[in-house]
Amino acid sequence: MSKHPKFLLAAIFLFTCLGQTQATLAAELNIYSHRQPFLIEPFLKAFTEKTGIKTNVVYASKGLVQRLLAEGEASPADVVLTVDIGRLRQYADKDLFSTFASDKLLAAVPEHLRSSDNTWFGFSKRSRIIAVSKKLENQDHIKRFEDVVDKRWKGLVCSRPGSHVYNRALLSSIIAANGEDGAKAWAEGLVSNLARSPRGNDRAQIKAIHAGECGITIVNHYYYGKLINSSNSEERQWAESVNIIIPNQAENDRGAHINISGGGIAKYSKNRKEAESFLEFLVSEEAQKLYASINYEYPVISDIELPDTLKVWGKFKEDNLPIEELADSYLEAQMIIDHVGW
Ligand code: FE
Repeated sequence: MSKHPKFLLAAIFLFTCLGQTQATLAAELNIYSHRQPFLIEPFLKAFTEKTGIKTNVVYASKGLVQRLLAEGEASPADVVLTVDIGRLRQYADKDLFSTFASDKLLAAVPEHLRSSDNTWFGFSKRSRIIAVSKKLENQDHIKRFEDVVDKRWKGLVCSRPGSHVYNRALLSSIIAANGEDGAKAWAEGLVSNLARSPRGNDRAQIKAIHAGECGITIVNHYYYGKLINSSNSEERQWAESVNIIIPNQAENDRGAHINISGGGIAKYSKNRKEAESFLEFLVSEEAQKLYASINYEYPVISDIELPDTLKVWGKFKEDNLPIEELADSYLEAQMIIDHVGW
């Protein structure tokens, strides 16, 4: 009888040690993602293959800021991935990121595409561009975002609602370029040129051009890439019905508006080392190639081989306005959007 409890204690000790060893080996990383599974999963697969770190993901299109706030210090989140500077700034403003001054990240991500306090980083670039119907007459008059609001296009423009983050950021960039009055005049001109009330997502605008409902729209560039390379022949036809204009390319002009997808390390991350290596992985050549090949986004590091669709457009001039400044004028932009009814 006296041997039995000793044996039990030894067994418990052994299992505890084994358990700890396993916990050390099975490193894990918890990701909160606004980005969709089709895009994120190839990154996770490559990351796990490379590092042995297992990943768990919470996918949600909305509500992750509130969730992190509610979870507080107990939050299991290690990394947050999202799109658009507006959303990144929501996390930053609520102090939900921790800083990470990694040499690798700082070297890979250009200064204007990351926060000045090293809390969030851009991992890919997306440009807003102009799509016009191939049938639109005098389309060579459209070279800049400013040209879309010319009175000659009255009744010919389709648009996603102005308060969508993509359009709000675009308007912020117009505030930076042309001042608040200039941006207001632009938004007023856009609304008075609309063919129908603002509705639908970016793809729906290209579809509307194909359907003959309008002749001009502004979309994120990768939607064209996705449509023109779609396995769905109808979607390919939508894309085939438009010409793409990369705006504001003249020598003295500011370049096409740029936004980012990005992320950062969650403030209360309990797997800090794993989170750091994941962020650094996202700017590796391997991961940067994935942004381009899966979703036609532009890598933030240079010299990455691009898909043919992007190669056709060549290297174009980008508006190098610090991304942070876009978020600084979001309130003004939203006030203009509400005021003009975009
Ligand atoms: Fe998008």
